[in-house]
Amino acid sequence: MELEGFDERKLASIKDTIYCPATKVAFHTQQAFWEEQGIKGGASFSGEGVRQTYYPSVKFNPNNGSVMLASYTIGDDADRLGNMSEQERHSFVKSTVGKVHPELQTEGMVASVASIAWGNYKWSAGGCTVHWSDDMSDESNHTISYLEAARPQNHLFFAGEHCSKYPAWLQGSIESALEAVYDIVSKESVSTSFIGGNVKVKQNQLETSFVG
Ligand SMILES: Cc1cc2nc3c(=O)[nH]c(=O)nc-3n(C[C@H](O)[C@H](O)[C@H](O)COP(=O)(O)OP(=O)(O)OC[C@H]3O[C@@H](n4cnc5c(N)ncnc54)[C@H](O)[C@@H]3O)c2cc1C
Repeated sequence: MELEGFDERKLASIKDTIYCPATKVAFHTQQAFWEEQGIKGGASFSGEGVRQTYYPSVKFNPNNGSVMLASYTIGDDADRLGNMSEQERHSFVKSTVGKVHPELQTEGMVASVASIAWGNYKWSAGGCTVHWSDDMSDESNHTISYLEAARPQNHLFFAGEHCSKYPAWLQGSIESALEAVYDIVSKESVSTSFIGGNVKVKQNQLETSFVG
């Protein structure tokens, strides 16, 4: 992707923001067979790159079966599962988790499968950001990096977990969104063309709706 109109520090910040892949594979099962083994929630761990399996802690209508998050991976394991075709990924997870839960191999037990590989997902290219390449054991490096990611360029404002003190957490994305809104309303009148129109935002109008 070619980026124009950004200064060097902003381009470096974009380049140095690294995304971590993640995958999830969920099974819709005919029965919550794990409950017969006393499992009412929580997770188990398998090898072979499948990582965590999570059991629902809520009750579904038994006529509709149940759902288990058969596999949740990040990092190298997510790259490996993400590079498989959907069909390969589903079969691999079913046979690996099936070693812990042979019921999964019973004919018809898995009614359907859904999965997502965030590393290959067009609109995010990863599950979340990881700390930037600088030495993040020094807290001040992290602060400099996220403030740079969040720094507006002309009339373009940045928000998201990657622009926050808490990358990879919802809390970070919400705090960052609030900070970006604050930056926008701090300008008396901002003319923005990047959201598909020439929108005029008056400070006092927004202050009324956010604070009031
Ligand atoms: C598998 C997984 C598990 C997680 N678990 C937790 C957890 O337990 N607790 C927690 O706090 N956080 C968790 N997170 C992190 C949390 O979900 C994210 O930090 C948060 O959703 C990021 O919010 P955001 O608004 O920054 O970005 P996003 O939620 O990614 O929103 C960005 C949006 O922009 C859209 N978009 C991208 N490009 C364009 C474009 N060119 N035009 C229009 N739209 C575009 C995308 O489709 C997307 O909807 C998890 C994330 C993943 C992937």
